[in-house]
Amino acid sequence: MTITEAKVATELTELEVYDVVIMGAGFAGNCQARHLMLNIPGIKVAIIDPRSPERDGKDLKVGESLVEITAMFLIKELGLSEYLIENHSPKYGLTFHWPKDSSDTQTIDDYHHIWVNGSPTIESFHLNRAKFERDILKMNQEMGATFYNGRVVDLDLTAEDELHTVHIKLGDSKIALQAKNLIDGAGRRFLIGKKTDNLIFDFDTDKLGGLNTGAAWLRVKNIDPKIFDQGYDPSLRGASRYYTTHHWFGKGHWLWMLPINTEERELSIGITHHKNVIPSKDINTVEKVKSFLKANHSLLAELIEGGDLVDFNYLPRLAHMSKKLFLRIIGMSWVMLLLCLTHFTLLGWF
Ligand SMILES: Cc1cc2nc3c(=O)[nH]c(=O)nc-3n(C[C@H](O)[C@H](O)[C@H](O)COP(=O)(O)OP(=O)(O)OC[C@H]3O[C@@H](n4cnc5c(N)ncnc54)[C@H](O)[C@@H]3O)c2cc1C
Repeated sequence: MTITEAKVATELTELEVYDVVIMGAGFAGNCQARHLMLNIPGIKVAIIDPRSPERDGKDLKVGESLVEITAMFLIKELGLSEYLIENHSPKYGLTFHWPKDSSDTQTIDDYHHIWVNGSPTIESFHLNRAKFERDILKMNQEMGATFYNGRVVDLDLTAEDELHTVHIKLGDSKIALQAKNLIDGAGRRFLIGKKTDNLIFDFDTDKLGGLNTGAAWLRVKNIDPKIFDQGYDPSLRGASRYYTTHHWFGKGHWLWMLPINTEERELSIGITHHKNVIPSKDINTVEKVKSFLKANHSLLAELIEGGDLVDFNYLPRLAHMSKKLFLRIIGMSWVMLLLCLTHFTLLGWF
């Protein structure tokens, strides 16, 4: 069931109480909900997210290359094997490219490479995130979860085993839900982290180990993938290298590239840069990224020019950290443990 503003006015009169309230219906929130419902029959789960459950084509997120252990989790624990094969691009391992001479990057043979020769023994995938989240949310609702299409605006956290309260804004209406167990799946909004003053976002100190990075990324469709299978001995394997997660390197930056939509030949391309070497102002618009690519990876600039731009994003602050890894356990410890496992095993960058 989906609860919208209109439903609040007509149907919700009392404070709703759930076993678990999940704040955020992204990758983590949706996977967590499915895992709980598959393992604890009858559990009462609420999921909250301001994004439309339809997730149209513009609702695009990064985080599409699954590490193999995540793919195993989705296949074995969440039962999504057929779903992934039928709906998302395969991932045939990783490929790494370094320019032999950074001023000469016109062809794939201008790079040194490391790549896999065969298909990995464990299946993995490149996710189309909007599609994945839309589909798993729908499956969760079919399994009994209630979806609140609104935004969490505040939390009242209480002592262990008491009910916590989550305040939600649905359009112009406000409601509150209660549960012993809260899951923060709101990504970089860090709802519980902010409420408990547990975050480090400090770039002037060594607290983040010197990490001072930003990221720009874009999606391009209708590209011509021929560069991936030219040059560097493509005959050694059956599958096209187009379906590997590509990593390209240069001074002060690392660039990833992966296919997320086979029908429209859509690529997700992003650059992570160290701001001491490449300042944000040099890379924070699509035109600047194109110029950067022309100067540093001209074959990729050409690839992008040959396709149709879908979207562009720039994130000036990438790194963050928690002051404490484990906070006071809120509610039953197993739920927090599952949350930690979800965050730390599923959501690495690869
Ligand atoms: C540039 C970049 C590249 C990356 N590449 C990869 C990669 O290749 N592979 C990989 O595994 N990971 C990658 N990641 C990491 C990955 O994107 C994140 O770890 C992942 O998106 C986190 O998922 P999540 O569900 O925790 O958060 P999100 O996907 O951000 O979902 C959070 C959800 O919470 C909702 N929300 C926000 N505020 C509220 C609120 N107040 N109330 C209710 N809901 C709210 C949002 O609408 C959203 O749907 C990358 C990250 C970045 C920035």
